[in-house]
Amino acid sequence: MRVLRITPRGYCYGVVGAMKIVQEAINDPSLPRPIFIIGMIVHNRQVVDAFDDKGVITLDGASRLDLLEQAVCGTVIFTAHGVSPSVKRRAAERGLRVLDATCPDVTRTHDLIHDRVGKGYDIIYIGRKGHPEPEGAVGVAPDNVYLIETESDLHALALDNRHIAVTNQTTLSQWDTAELIKKVKTKYPQAEIYNEICMATQLRQQAVAEQAREADLCIVVGDARSNNSNRLVQVAKEFSDTPAYLAQNVVAVNPDWLIGRSTVAVTSGASTPSVITKAVIEYLEQFDERDPTTWDHKDKDAHTRILPKSPASAIPRSVVL
Ligand code: SF4
Repeated sequence: MRVLRITPRGYCYGVVGAMKIVQEAINDPSLPRPIFIIGMIVHNRQVVDAFDDKGVITLDGASRLDLLEQAVCGTVIFTAHGVSPSVKRRAAERGLRVLDATCPDVTRTHDLIHDRVGKGYDIIYIGRKGHPEPEGAVGVAPDNVYLIETESDLHALALDNRHIAVTNQTTLSQWDTAELIKKVKTKYPQAEIYNEICMATQLRQQAVAEQAREADLCIVVGDARSNNSNRLVQVAKEFSDTPAYLAQNVVAVNPDWLIGRSTVAVTSGASTPSVITKAVIEYLEQFDERDPTTWDHKDKDAHTRILPKSPASAIPRSVVL
């Protein structure tokens, strides 16, 4: 089977940076134990399992503040998605050692919200309800930030502030967001727009929109919890007019998807380890629909290969709070 490797794909710098911070913490005996991660460090189960094997405890659940209460002592790491100031304050009150792995692109949005609200603005924040990134961003100024996900959320808003700013989660579909922003501008013509979809997300989405149409199927390798991976599936379907599936790893690739296809495009989410994508590509390349012996999966994912190399050489960018 012909495989079209979509580029760019896979790890972004925010994800690599966050994982290196966890690795550095593991290798730093001066940090108090245990080490907790408040939420999944990135939305990928294999990465979480790889750190779990090294003794790092990932606390998973709906609210970062609630998760923090489970860390009774030791070191806590905030994930690439960012946390609200109240989470940082609570960690300090409880005497926990903190490493902040928030992606710089998310921090920029927090700074923007903080700055605009300080100048008297209300903020319309476009994002996914229940995702940790909006939770952190809204928490920067909970009385002045309004989370909307859909047009009906926008209809329900009744802001009378002359100063309104619009910003968004970094990993949304750039086309959906542009549409919703247009509607916000119709309702609030005075709104200032700050589109914060990160460059990594934009480039990966544009690559799928342009390249997946050359294939008759697109497989996005990524975790079901990964917003940016789900958006790549959506982009393939809506902008390349190509059927698309999300597969967490090679074992999740259903041979039935491949029957009758000659070319399959492959991409991966920003939190997907390249070794997992490589295993999917190798499987597809050897797949022959006339030979069922090629349909078996050989899961080559190995946790030791999932984490980035040589943490010792990484430039530390964690903020110790
Ligand atoms: S997807 Fe974008 S915002 Fe999220 S970690 Fe990567 S670079 Fe940062």
